[in-house]
Amino acid sequence: MVAAHARLGRPPVSERVELGDAAGRVLAESLSADRDQPPFPRSTRDGFACRAEEANKHKPLKVAGSIHAGQAPAGPLPRGAAWEIMTGAPVPAGADAVAMVEHVEHSGGAVRLLPPRTLEPGENIVPQGAEARAGDEVLSAGTHLGSQHIALAAACGHATIPVFRRPRVAILTTGDELVPVASKPAPGQIRNSNGVMLAALVARAGGDPWILPTARDDDRSLDEALREAVTADMLLITGGVSAGKFDLVEPALARIGARFHFTGVRIQPGKPLVFGELTGPSKTRKNFFGLPGNPISSAATFLLFGSRILGALVGCQQAGPRFALARLAKNVKGKPDLTRFVPSVCDFNSAGGEDPEVSTVASQGSGDLASFSRSNCFLVVPEGTDRLHAGDVVRILLH
Ligand code: AMP
Ligand code: MG
Repeated sequence: MVAAHARLGRPPVSERVELGDAAGRVLAESLSADRDQPPFPRSTRDGFACRAEEANKHKPLKVAGSIHAGQAPAGPLPRGAAWEIMTGAPVPAGADAVAMVEHVEHSGGAVRLLPPRTLEPGENIVPQGAEARAGDEVLSAGTHLGSQHIALAAACGHATIPVFRRPRVAILTTGDELVPVASKPAPGQIRNSNGVMLAALVARAGGDPWILPTARDDDRSLDEALREAVTADMLLITGGVSAGKFDLVEPALARIGARFHFTGVRIQPGKPLVFGELTGPSKTRKNFFGLPGNPISSAATFLLFGSRILGALVGCQQAGPRFALARLAKNVKGKPDLTRFVPSVCDFNSAGGEDPEVSTVASQGSGDLASFSRSNCFLVVPEGTDRLHAGDVVRILLH
């Protein structure tokens, strides 16, 4: 249901940024290569450019010249000769292979490929245009830019690039017990950790987090806060959506005309999750999530559901939760009517080549940030699973 709504978003507005500031942004238009990549046949080794067929006779070849990276293409290569060449330099016309310096005997101005080594035509050369041709699209619109994309854009001469404007995501925490992080909590109070946690998740997903002052558990405070929050592109409200006496968020949303798409999910943690839409000041529709207040429930429901809507708003349709497979270290119990998301640690660094292994972390429940911080994923225990067994291949949700 959330994915269906994620497709309704209007196309985001774009702006130009310096390439160096583009990490984490979403490309608004495709980018093409300004020239062939590589722009010349490139040697991938230090050695001697030659004709493979001549080198394979293992007779001395006269060294006709030398070229290093940055020099203009040289040559042509005379018959029966080799050309000294460094990694990254243009291969002289006529040569069809590069013999590695480690594989030759070099003396008296001649070089000989040492048997039993032989060369294939094309060996240690990337032909001009093999990676991309001038004018080819190399990056498509909607790419969430990582370091690899930025490097490619740089190679193709894009010093500034068009990216989508970051959608503004209102983060409204609610609860009489919450105080700002820098305050000293009075007895019974706790610090607001959801605000900054969600801001970090939103920023990582390409959004522009806007943390509002915490609303109190009363109608007036909630109404006021929601009136402000509804000016954002998307709303994340935490707390006050369970069945408690002071869980006043749903009625407050209803008072400003919210349409609810669902008010609960068969997952643990995160069962009371609320999803719907509101009409903002300029008649634009925007999605909201009422996330359960427990920090781990908030994180899990944002990753599973909120990230999809945000993905559409940032202009990146593939965005959303990232799952992987791992092998389970110890038995874990399931629930008949809820899919469980259990904070776990997955060891991806299996130097011996074994599958990544996942173990749950001991936890005091969905408020236990200390144990959550020792985790790097959630183990997914599908609804109706009596038990997952040690050694099973299981799904994990990365966070
Ligand atoms: P609620 O969803 O409002 O019933 O809250 C569930 C639990 O999460 C309670 O223990 C709250 O104190 C806690 N909680 C709610 N909001 C936050 C927040 N912003 N930061 C940290 N803990 C919270
Ligand atoms: Mg509350």
